[in-house]
Amino acid sequence: MAVDKTTILVVEDEPSIAELVTFSLQEAGWNTFTVGSAGEAWEFIQRRSPQLILLDWMLPDQSGLRLLSRIRADRQMQELPVIMLTAKSMEEDKIAGLDNGADDYITKPFSPRELTARIKALLRRKSPEHAQSLMTVGAVALDPASCTVMLHGQKIDIGHAEFKLLKFFLAHPERVFSRSQLLDKVWGDHVAIEERTVDVHVLRLRKALKEAETLIKTVRSVGYMLSEK
Ligand code: CA
Repeated sequence: MAVDKTTILVVEDEPSIAELVTFSLQEAGWNTFTVGSAGEAWEFIQRRSPQLILLDWMLPDQSGLRLLSRIRADRQMQELPVIMLTAKSMEEDKIAGLDNGADDYITKPFSPRELTARIKALLRRKSPEHAQSLMTVGAVALDPASCTVMLHGQKIDIGHAEFKLLKFFLAHPERVFSRSQLLDKVWGDHVAIEERTVDVHVLRLRKALKEAETLIKTVRSVGYMLSEK
């Protein structure tokens, strides 16, 4: 089974910009979907939940700002990281975007490098498990871009669920999570699996980590955490 990649929705009606953005994002290791209107974007985010949206200000059907307000007013989506793309460089527009809940703001023309750097920074801030940079603890290193885990620099065998679980723990070290929180955060709340399943995956994760298994701590009657202590 393929490990889920971070999905970024690009809402941009100018084909040349959409193409450049899509290319840069895929090069950086993200999945992308591109739509050309606010209506299509709204439809997309109802069906699939992207981890981040790049949102153009000027769209053919309604403004990106309007879509942003809609996203921020929705209970399911209000936390979704959004970066506004715009040709405008007026200070008041920037303020309007940030006032309406944009997490960041990029003025066209921008370099692909600047764009990917901003996305990484925002993902790291809002949902560290979706940043594509190498995550390490002790002798363990997880590379989200290539979906591999190394122990002392040697690639180890790890299952899909255990990979996701480890990635989540690495993004939130030294914090205890209950089984239901882990189910919610790692598997998503639409998945109907029993809390006991978490124990099975933790067990498998420890086995995969070999001598580094002690990183995954059981916190009695609470849940699990990743800790070097
Ligand atoms: Ca546009």
